[in-house]
Amino acid sequence: MKTIDQINFSGKKALIRVDFNVPLDENGNITDDNRITAALPTIKKIIKDGGAVILMSHMGRPKNGPNEKDSLKHVIKHLSDLLGVQVEFADDCIGEQATEKAQALKDGQVLLLENLRFYKEEEKGDADFAKKLAALGDVYVNDAFGTAHRAHASTAVIAQFFPDAKYFGYLMGAELSNAEKVLNNPERPFTAIMGGSKVSDKILLIERLLDKVDNLIIGGGMAYTFAKANGGNIGTSLVELEKLQLALDLVQKAKDKGVKLLLPLDNVIADDFNNNAKTDVAKTGEIPDNWMGLDIGPETVKLFSEVIENSKTILWNGPMGVFEMDTFMVGTKAVADAVVKATSAGAFSLIGGGDSAAAVSKFGLTADVSYVSTGGGALLEYMEGKELPGVKAINED
Ligand code: AMP
Repeated sequence: MKTIDQINFSGKKALIRVDFNVPLDENGNITDDNRITAALPTIKKIIKDGGAVILMSHMGRPKNGPNEKDSLKHVIKHLSDLLGVQVEFADDCIGEQATEKAQALKDGQVLLLENLRFYKEEEKGDADFAKKLAALGDVYVNDAFGTAHRAHASTAVIAQFFPDAKYFGYLMGAELSNAEKVLNNPERPFTAIMGGSKVSDKILLIERLLDKVDNLIIGGGMAYTFAKANGGNIGTSLVELEKLQLALDLVQKAKDKGVKLLLPLDNVIADDFNNNAKTDVAKTGEIPDNWMGLDIGPETVKLFSEVIENSKTILWNGPMGVFEMDTFMVGTKAVADAVVKATSAGAFSLIGGGDSAAAVSKFGLTADVSYVSTGGGALLEYMEGKELPGVKAINED
């Protein structure tokens, strides 16, 4: 793997693609700085070597060019505090000001460019735009795992302008090696926990995992498609009616491959999609009409926890219920606790990004699992076996 450990940045200007797309509150304050802290080791190594750093990122999904809400200037102060260096800012990612500021940059200094997605060319993967960005630095570093599955100008296309000077940052390196470790070198038993709303989003990953895992736990909204396919009553629970046969096929495939597939035995049900709704517990397949399953039930918690606690490798992607509402977070919290317990007993636990990472963070358990990925879609695609454009661009000659 071509990582920044293979180069000394002394006297060089490193152009780093980071993912600083952090959530902001209505006043523009950062509400979760994980993505920024995740990029610090790479930035610090370059500064320590005696190099200068130019950071480029996207923020939000701006539709029509520049706007205040999606400006990266919201991260300047916090980033400066974290680095102990006053970060310079260019209020355009290309053009005269960016060029001048990049040229004037001295070793040890850090320049942050304005939101790349203020240009449509970024997401289109425009080569001219990528070339203008490339002119700002001597070395290209990609440390934006969260967008590595996109063939954008700054994540992939730009690499062609640095044929002998393109590297993965530490975050990319860690993400890739942890995903590899779980997929190709898992200590057994290996348990995958899949949850979230839809089975259709995760079907490719589930199919691939059936060749690798010992146990496959399925919870969350997607479990009701399986319950319905088995002929059960699911009330008004989430379901993908066009995926019933697929669910049955997956059950059969698991059997054929000797994978233990665990589905919920019981469910916390509610008479409304609401934190204050009336709740009850129902066995799987026995949910009354007009009630919906919003969490796994107590028997299921016991079953899943035992399997998880006896695992040596754990991959978790997707919550067990509507964890955003406190009434329905119990199952997800119990699974998180079981993952933590297994980890403290020596298991390797990888938490997929997105909602599972948000859940673990909500429970204050991020430091108690082995690794929380910063990539939702990117990790999913990588684990499905797809070649990520951001990874390919660095690897190819
Ligand atoms: P995903 O983005 O597919 O990983 O799904 C995550 C979302 O699934 C979260 O916002 C959860 O609230 C939601 N979810 C989990 N379990 C259920 C359920 N039983 N019914 C409805 N939504 C659910």
